[in-house]
Amino acid sequence: MRILDFHLHYNGKLENASRFVELWRAGGVEKAVVFGLNHEDGSHVSMDAVAKLTERFPDFFIPFAYLNLGYEDCLCAVAEARSRGFRGLKFIYTAKPYDDDEYFPIYEAAAKANMVLLFHTGIIIGTGKAGGEHGTAFQAKWRISSDYMRPMRLDRIARAFPEMPIVGAHVGAESWYEEATSMLEWLNNIYFDMAIQQFHYVRKNAPAGSDPRVIKFRIKELYDSGQLNLHRILFGSDACVGSPKANPDWPLGTLHFELDGLGATEEEKEAVRWGTAAKILGIS
Ligand SMILES: [Zn+2]
Repeated sequence: MRILDFHLHYNGKLENASRFVELWRAGGVEKAVVFGLNHEDGSHVSMDAVAKLTERFPDFFIPFAYLNLGYEDCLCAVAEARSRGFRGLKFIYTAKPYDDDEYFPIYEAAAKANMVLLFHTGIIIGTGKAGGEHGTAFQAKWRISSDYMRPMRLDRIARAFPEMPIVGAHVGAESWYEEATSMLEWLNNIYFDMAIQQFHYVRKNAPAGSDPRVIKFRIKELYDSGQLNLHRILFGSDACVGSPKANPDWPLGTLHFELDGLGATEEEKEAVRWGTAAKILGIS
């Protein structure tokens, strides 16, 4: 069983990376898309750091450039990413909605370089929960809005660049599953990653000894109606390379539980685990 993890962050701690790669490989992950993360002050892990990680494990990692639209020179960064052989771009914090006119030259440059774009979609971590190694202290100063990252903000980009694969992370979690999956039917270049635990919840008052995990009713309904097309859904763990606590058991267990729980066919499971991601990244 081959698995491609489409969603890994990297904290820049190269000394912890080999342990991570060993664990993920032991779980069946053969390749993984990796990109940086934002620190508490808003700075993020550099393209250079991601490049060094990828050079150390060239058979395992597929590098994407991690960029904050409107807060850095993204057009320059696309040129650099291209020259370094990065396969795609990961967008998250953005000063304006993703589909603002100002950003189209960036997307156009990426399309010309045959890149794959991954955008965070849905509610973003904030003050309510710990965000692992992701910083949030800069969000007030930057005037961050999850609304700028709604799935439908990808609609205009997908129509403008119909050959470019555009992946929304988290299926628009948690508010916009319907909005996200509705796009799959109408736009052939839209995909979503299922990072992570988007398809099930954990019951608050589950009886002791029982499995507290339940497939979300609205996800089941979207799958049963054909709107949640699993051929356009990619596995992503959202784990952090370099974190000493990283463990693949939970994300991989979640992947298998959710696919089984939805009643996915073997063909659909293979597409989610490997096939669709491999196709859009050009891996055989
Ligand atoms: Zn993430």
